Amino acid sequence: MVPEPESAPRPRSRRSFIKHSMAGTALTAALGTMAAGSAPAWAGVRQTAGATLELEPADASYDVLVVGGGPAGLCAAIQAARAGAKTLLVEKSGVLGGAIVLNGVNFPGLFHAWGKQIIAGIGWDLVTAAVDLCGQALPDFSDYTRRHWHLQVRVDRAVFAALADAAVLDAGAALLFHAMAASAVFEDGRWRVGLATKEGMRSVPARVVIDCTGDANVAGIAGFARRRSPALQPGSIMARLGGYDEQALDYEALQRAYTAAVERGELRSGDAVNNNIAQLLRSRGDNTMHVVGIDGASSEGKSRAEVLARQQLLRLFRFCRKQPGLEQFQYDWFAMECGIRETFTIEGLETVTVRDYTSGRVWDDAVCYSFYPIDVHRPSGDGIDIRPLEEGMVPTIPRGALIPRDSRNFLAAGRCASGEQEANSAYRVQASCMAMGQAAGGIAALAVQRNELPAEVPMEAVRALLRNHGAIVPEPQG
Ligand SMILES: Cc1cc2nc3c(=O)[nH]c(=O)nc-3n(C[C@H](O)[C@H](O)[C@H](O)COP(=O)(O)OP(=O)(O)OC[C@H]3O[C@@H](n4cnc5c(N)ncnc54)[C@H](O)[C@@H]3O)c2cc1C
Repeated sequence: MVPEPESAPRPRSRRSFIKHSMAGTALTAALGTMAAGSAPAWAGVRQTAGATLELEPADASYDVLVVGGGPAGLCAAIQAARAGAKTLLVEKSGVLGGAIVLNGVNFPGLFHAWGKQIIAGIGWDLVTAAVDLCGQALPDFSDYTRRHWHLQVRVDRAVFAALADAAVLDAGAALLFHAMAASAVFEDGRWRVGLATKEGMRSVPARVVIDCTGDANVAGIAGFARRRSPALQPGSIMARLGGYDEQALDYEALQRAYTAAVERGELRSGDAVNNNIAQLLRSRGDNTMHVVGIDGASSEGKSRAEVLARQQLLRLFRFCRKQPGLEQFQYDWFAMECGIRETFTIEGLETVTVRDYTSGRVWDDAVCYSFYPIDVHRPSGDGIDIRPLEEGMVPTIPRGALIPRDSRNFLAAGRCASGEQEANSAYRVQASCMAMGQAAGGIAALAVQRNELPAEVPMEAVRALLRNHGAIVPEPQG
């Protein structure tokens, strides 16, 4: 059912994110000076009051350790830190934003359902701060009859990433890039998570761990049960195509040439999505190059995906350069990682089924809304099974989907939350991940403060904290 509007986006927070962007400039300067005189044994950087950075001692222990700095992880870390938990955010790359930045999927959605805002809080504030700073306009969310992608919010990747750095540090969390979770052991009431860093292995103690890796990596390493579908959806390599005038191309001739190149083996069927070269060229790349038959769950699988994605780019480059009007074809930009749609989810205390999702089930322990069509990209690469929700339906995500079965002091948020493939194809989108991340961060902070397990924290306390931090939280219906 359509929820009544709860909290409108908070202008105060939007201004405060922009203020953080200026702090970000100071952060960059501070980082510049840090490189020369830093001690070798440190765990991360933390912002001090004057917007300078200090190093975290390597033996620091944390209330909350968040692994993965994508839409879910950065919101989890900001929320946990704002709620008073000593928090460390660890990210394997050198940038926050996850798929938004690393995969070039810089159009988060959906914050609105049927014309009403259903997701607000940290992620929305960050997205709208990026839009404000770039002088862009938000879509008209009231016109919900438009196809869903018109209601996503395009953000500048660099601005979003820089605002995210500043917001995480300004919240008081410590931030460690270029480190990957490699082990996780629970003993004496706390986690010790092994991080592979540039200086070798480092063990970080934390009361609560939040897995926001997208792939439930830490849950798997810790030995919790995970779920995966027999056939995984394709990934995509995002790129911006340039060097041609799209009005001047003969698309019929290009399609004939494309088909002939596939028959000769110079291109592979599916190199352009739907084998439609006109679509690829008119959209200048974007989300039109699916990479089929990959498994992004492991380092080996991801390595194969990256190589296959770049081979695809190379085949298309060689083909295009031979076509009239495309002699100067080039990639103006391409994503640093192949985008992965699906790997593992945790097996949670609760599992979101496609029926739960499409019927708009309001769970008793719902922590946020989620809204998107069922959006299963066929594993064969042969198109997308896309099913919009019935008018009025707004699904919710329960806390139980963020807690692995048989776990202690452990949460997982974002794409790896517990759900069936079809439901996951919808709730994996970025606005939902941001809302789940904020919820997980809040639950983790409360669990530490109250000395309770994440599943035991009273839902009234969870709802109150999240609403206090700008989130929209469904009311149970019973
Ligand atoms: C091609 C494509 C198109 C999409 N289209 C849309 C769309 O139109 N709109 C939309 O809203 N969503 C879209 N999505 C979905 C969405 O982008 C993702 O599902 C979402 O970003 C998941 O967020 P997350 O935080 O769970 O994970 P991610 O965004 O994947 O972030 C995970 C982060 O964890 C880090 N990490 C991973 N493993 C480790 C480790 N072991 N240690 C440390 N760090 C680690 C990664 O580097 C990454 O930064 C699309 C996704 C893809 C791939």
